[in-house]
Amino acid sequence: MSVNFETPVRHIKGVGPRRSEIFEKAGIRTVGDLVRYRPFRYEDRTNFQEIARLRPEREVVVRGTVRHPGRLLIRRKGLSILELVVADSSGSVPVRFFNQPYLSKVFRKEQEVILFGTPRYDSYSFALTFQNPEFELIVAGEDQVIHTGRITPVYRRIDKLTTRILRQLIHRSLEALGVDEHDSLPREILSRWNFPSLFKALRNLHFPEFPADTSKEEFLKALNEFSTPAQRRFVFEEFFLFQLGLYMARRGRELIPKRRKIVLSSSVRKRLKSILPFHPTAAQKRVLKEIAGDLCGDRVMSRLLQGDVGSGKTIVALQAMVIVIENGFQAALMAPTELLVEQHFRNMQKYLRQTPYHLASLSRRIKGEERKRILSQVKSGEVQLLVGTHALIQEKVAFQDLGIVVVDEQHRFGVIQRSELMKKGSLPDTLVMTATPIPRSLAMTVYGDLRVSVLDEMPPGRKPVKTVVKMETSRDEVYSVLRRQVKEGRQVYIVYPLIEESAKLELRSAVEMAEQLQTEVFEDVKVGLMHGRLQPAEKDELMKQFVEGLVQILVSTTVIEVGIDVPNATVMVIEHAERFGLSQLHQLRGRIGRGEHGGLCILMVDKVASRDAHERLDIMKRTSDGFKIAEKDLEIRGPGEFLGTRQSGVPMFHFGDIVRDREILELARREAESFFDRVNSGDDEEQKANLGCLINEWREQHGLIRVG
Ligand code: ADP
Ligand code: MG
Repeated sequence: MSVNFETPVRHIKGVGPRRSEIFEKAGIRTVGDLVRYRPFRYEDRTNFQEIARLRPEREVVVRGTVRHPGRLLIRRKGLSILELVVADSSGSVPVRFFNQPYLSKVFRKEQEVILFGTPRYDSYSFALTFQNPEFELIVAGEDQVIHTGRITPVYRRIDKLTTRILRQLIHRSLEALGVDEHDSLPREILSRWNFPSLFKALRNLHFPEFPADTSKEEFLKALNEFSTPAQRRFVFEEFFLFQLGLYMARRGRELIPKRRKIVLSSSVRKRLKSILPFHPTAAQKRVLKEIAGDLCGDRVMSRLLQGDVGSGKTIVALQAMVIVIENGFQAALMAPTELLVEQHFRNMQKYLRQTPYHLASLSRRIKGEERKRILSQVKSGEVQLLVGTHALIQEKVAFQDLGIVVVDEQHRFGVIQRSELMKKGSLPDTLVMTATPIPRSLAMTVYGDLRVSVLDEMPPGRKPVKTVVKMETSRDEVYSVLRRQVKEGRQVYIVYPLIEESAKLELRSAVEMAEQLQTEVFEDVKVGLMHGRLQPAEKDELMKQFVEGLVQILVSTTVIEVGIDVPNATVMVIEHAERFGLSQLHQLRGRIGRGEHGGLCILMVDKVASRDAHERLDIMKRTSDGFKIAEKDLEIRGPGEFLGTRQSGVPMFHFGDIVRDREILELARREAESFFDRVNSGDDEEQKANLGCLINEWREQHGLIRVG
């Protein structure tokens, strides 16, 4: 039977029902999937070290036989040691495995093994010993050429399938495939960037050979950095497909003619002017123009508005909504938290008080009859501007004629949620706003389907926020600074990482602290406590008091992180600052220095904070540029965590790493866009068919696109 990329894995010799089930769970269904399972490391197993010549602290590969079968010592509960001796013709070496008692059944006497590891002097016996080395059993009669005597690929184990089994199966699959002319990448792109063909790249990915023109060390290093041409090809391919999909999503939306007709008449302009409480910055004007261009155009808008905290995104969004409302359509504004919804609603009411617009807000708090009433007014078109959490998309909120959706603080929503939103109804124009400055590489992955506007200018009169790091010993001094500020009429945030005492973490409880601050330190001013477990009404009330200046010191957990805007608050104390990530600190700090009074951010740290933590805090002291901070943060934490893991909507790539491979990402984007445009506008049927295949592949991989 001939094997191709679509052949189910169970047709490969050695894959029965059990194994194919394990593969299935890992998303590997076909031979094509299996051969794209990448090694995560490569070892040079062309040279075995003689055991007699082992040196301490040097990574080596040794081949020998098990002399003494494993002796399993149970030291105490939770600690077991398996001891073996492995020998070759030159000598023998002890090998110890910790806490892997099942290995005692794996190593039989006279078993041939390959060990890979770093021998060290044992602190008891002073003998050179391997501890927890990587190992492989050599099975007589099997084709050993694939496991040793070559650059050997090492795979992450999939459940019970060890690296050795995987290597065997992948090798078998490649052999069975034979030379295949099929390639998932367009030929012209392959040749433009000198990428090897798919088949060649697969061989080089799994069973690379030392090239003649590079030193062994260099080649191995390149392999382990994932930068050989074959590896880069796969990174490119993955990014290319992804970018192609995002681009298609965007172009697809843009190809849909808009039913709505929106114009910027003089009366609309007048209204826009009348609601502005200040002169917009040049950046705000520029961005509004970009947005208005989209709104008045005949294609559906999908635009991202990026701007650092405090750059004034809200008013731009408001203007966009006013344009739409003035033209007779509805607007919706979504925010990630109830707190923000309430703030937005208050602000919108304030900005729009001279207009006849009918505003409503929809949050979890609004229930029963009131909710019903609002929903029916939204449906009838009576409500012109609706503010809500993303419950707006989850529930079936029906609009009369929704013209624009503004999504605030987008990084809390994912790509998928966004595409859900855009699928709604008659495709409203969409403006997505993000306050977390996202490094370009990441922005392209998460927002590649959007056009981007950037607010790169702060409103005038902002004084930079001064940032200092303080130890516990300076607490009194810190309090006297706060007291002085409050006396001058300013307000203060004190941020805690958690809300309740956790003995384990020795965190100061926000609750307790708030009480203590109120009763012992700041008896004469009002201290408020904000945390996630307050009832929405309580939060609302407290926030209102803070906005109105009735509460001077707001002790809070990170619920205030996103978007809260109280210009009179000028000082922020962040307790246990070492526990926060950089972007989070930046977001928190963005809450202050919003008015004419400047700002002071005091980062309180524990004596025991790690060096890493101090480095992080140092970055905070040195810069207030959100983009720089985001770059650093991304470097330190990696893309998943950077955006808050799962729900971040950052796609997980198998080959590519958007930090390491950002140049390839950029290249892939350019190629994907020009490829799509070229094929789409040309009349080469073969190319069109090719594009169709790529689209299908993309759908399968990401399953979140729907064009039209
Ligand atoms: P963000 O971009 O973080 O959402 P906001 O829209 O909340 O920022 O704006 C931050 C603060 O700056 C608000 O108090 C807002 O009223 C003020 N602001 C925005 N634009 C201007 C401007 N052009 N001139 C003066 N103040 C402005
Ligand atoms: Mg905001």
